[in-house]
Amino acid sequence: MTTLREGFKEARQEAHDRAKGEGWAMTPVYGGPQKKRYYLPDGREVMALPSMRDYVKREGKVVVESGTRDANYDKGWLETPPQNLKVTCIHCDRWHDTEDDVVRCGTQRNAMVQKQEQAYRKRFKIGDEDDVIKLKSEVQELREMLKKVLEKV
Ligand SMILES: [Zn+2]
Repeated sequence: MTTLREGFKEARQEAHDRAKGEGWAMTPVYGGPQKKRYYLPDGREVMALPSMRDYVKREGKVVVESGTRDANYDKGWLETPPQNLKVTCIHCDRWHDTEDDVVRCGTQRNAMVQKQEQAYRKRFKIGDEDDVIKLKSEVQELREMLKKVLEKV
């Protein structure tokens, strides 16, 4: 049985592997004519297919801007090599200015995961593991009591 925490870890690993499949791991530079060179904030280069998306920008009901944009830039990828290298974050797979920010990101994420876990436990009425152990020993006690009662009959 996988615990909730392991499940979260697995999901994150999966997301990480997916990101790698999108071209993070330095795949050949001659990757075909459609691929484009991007730079990651930590200085690495990536060859990947542009991820073009239509977009519409509205102010109220009026369209003020529309067109297509490359969603790869939304991930933080850059068109030119970064001037100030950032630190790759092992927690969110994005980039932060300093190692301290990475540590902070981890702390925030852990707090968030814990909060989600608590909400999940509450929602599905899952007790702490301690509660389960307590419950098991209580059931055992009841069994023994029942046995004794039945023996007397
Ligand atoms: Zn982060």
